[in-house]
Amino acid sequence: MKVLVINCGSSSLKYQLIDSEREEVLAKGLCERIGIDGSNIAHQPAGGEKVKEEAAMPDHTAAVKLVISKLTDEKVGVIRSLTEIDAVGHRMVHGGENFSGSVIINEEVIKAIEDCNDLAPLHNPANLIGVRSCQAIMPGVPMVAVFDTAFHQTMPEKAYLYGLPYDYYKKYKIRRYGFHGTSHDFVSKRAAEILGKDRKDLKIIVCHLGNGASVSAVKYGESVDTSMGLTPLEGLIMGTRSGDLDPAIISFLAEKEGMTASQVIDVCNKKSGVLGLSDGYSSDFRDLVQASETGNEQAKHALEAYAYRVGKYIGAYAAAMNGVDVIAFTAGVGENNAEVRAMIGEYIGYLGTNIDAERNKVRGEEIILSDEGSKVVTMVVPTNEELAIARETVRLVK
Ligand code: AMP
Repeated sequence: MKVLVINCGSSSLKYQLIDSEREEVLAKGLCERIGIDGSNIAHQPAGGEKVKEEAAMPDHTAAVKLVISKLTDEKVGVIRSLTEIDAVGHRMVHGGENFSGSVIINEEVIKAIEDCNDLAPLHNPANLIGVRSCQAIMPGVPMVAVFDTAFHQTMPEKAYLYGLPYDYYKKYKIRRYGFHGTSHDFVSKRAAEILGKDRKDLKIIVCHLGNGASVSAVKYGESVDTSMGLTPLEGLIMGTRSGDLDPAIISFLAEKEGMTASQVIDVCNKKSGVLGLSDGYSSDFRDLVQASETGNEQAKHALEAYAYRVGKYIGAYAAAMNGVDVIAFTAGVGENNAEVRAMIGEYIGYLGTNIDAERNKVRGEEIILSDEGSKVVTMVVPTNEELAIARETVRLVK
């Protein structure tokens, strides 16, 4: 089957066309500035050059049309016609408590996703615009919604409830949901596969460390805790997000800086994390490592605070599962940044991880970092959320 995987944001649309039998990407690309002046598309067929061009995309339907025209283009296309697309998999950010797995999209499902819009006001409506646009252009093609939150729906109440009046949970569904679920699921499965074991027999901690970052505790195949909460702001220090805070800081800062609560939250989302800690130097970990090595103290402190927080969460999740067998690093930083992995390694040695300094030099590939016979296997497992969405789509459509 050929599956088109769509990740639709408010002004962007990322896509991959995947051959599901071979699990190969046939083409991928990104439309940016949809609905804004200067909209453009970058399209890349497998094994070919990336082509980037400006093209008018007044709305997402125009963007989907343009994607189809690129996929079927004589020069840069990879299929002859639209009819070769067998199914579409959509990344959905928030499924609330309505979805504990992927689903085939119909009107009832769209309504249930809309019911979660309050929980992800920036993401869910944009994801749904992507669905509507694809439906308009590919009527009759089955579509599947794959949720970032679904994998974490197995968390027990003790892990997902906040210490707030219970009434707020009942009235507004305020609780921890967690995100990056597709990645935590994919990586924990793959980690078990690499070790030749059944995920149902393992306690795995997955560290998804990208620009957005979260840790999860996957016990015997199910997520029992994860660091993101009602929104992706909770948990680790991230590229630009603060992660865990004392909530009293919100009103304190609002008063001191003359901001509204939502303006403070905006600072917590966009100007904090390692960007804020490095005094605005960069949110990119490559820049920070380089700066830190050449004497930028602020960048060094940002990385130290980052690694310390990850180390603390790993300790917490080892406790949550009463043990840990595997720790898997993934996403941009987790897969590639040997320096940051080594810094995190400083906090978890007591678990019996024995990370080998030579093996830890690897970037971007599956590898076991621990010495033979280590009590806890530490490894790098590259994530592939698009492939996971394509697999889910095929599973439901077939
Ligand atoms: P993601 O959000 O998963 O794309 O991760 C983005 C982060 O990964 C950025 O902060 C990058 O600095 C980091 N990253 C990506 N590639 C590398 C690399 N080769 N070496 C070090 N860090 C990297």
